[in-house]
Amino acid sequence: MSDAIVPDTKDWTWVLERPCPECGYAAADGDPFAVGDVVRSVVPRWEAVLSRADVRERPAPDVWSPLEYAAHVRDVFRVFDGRLRLMIEENDPEFPDWDQDAAAVAEDYGNQDPAVVAAELVAAGAAVADRFDAVFPEQLERRGLRSNGSEFTVRTLGQYFLHDLVHHLHDVAA
Ligand SMILES: [Zn+2]
Repeated sequence: MSDAIVPDTKDWTWVLERPCPECGYAAADGDPFAVGDVVRSVVPRWEAVLSRADVRERPAPDVWSPLEYAAHVRDVFRVFDGRLRLMIEENDPEFPDWDQDAAAVAEDYGNQDPAVVAAELVAAGAAVADRFDAVFPEQLERRGLRSNGSEFTVRTLGQYFLHDLVHHLHDVAA
């Protein structure tokens, strides 16, 4: 069923330049030092989403179920934790590729256990929140590169991540 999802090949870095037309969030105004607190504020909302009776139901054939979105957010937490760690520990690292649509299919998000996803999301959220909390002001302009050439700094990575947090709650109306 995951094959019905249209691969998202858009380059989402535009969200750093203008407000998102879908969720309204203006990432360029995001406070990179607020990331940890925002992550902690969204985690209980995802736990509530994962306890919904219809957590496995897709609202439309080409739209992820709440469970699939939650599994994605758990993996977003892990990926951003890894990318931030690289940017702090190495100079101008290139991020390992992560194809989020391929991950959803390969890891069969739609058939994962909601209780397990909830526990993993809580753990991954705590880890990435702590890592963003540990960023010093003088580290904000450290760089990292995606394999497609997009360049992030710690600041823009945090802002991009803040939009992801807001946008996916919008996706599941939480
Ligand atoms: Zn958005």
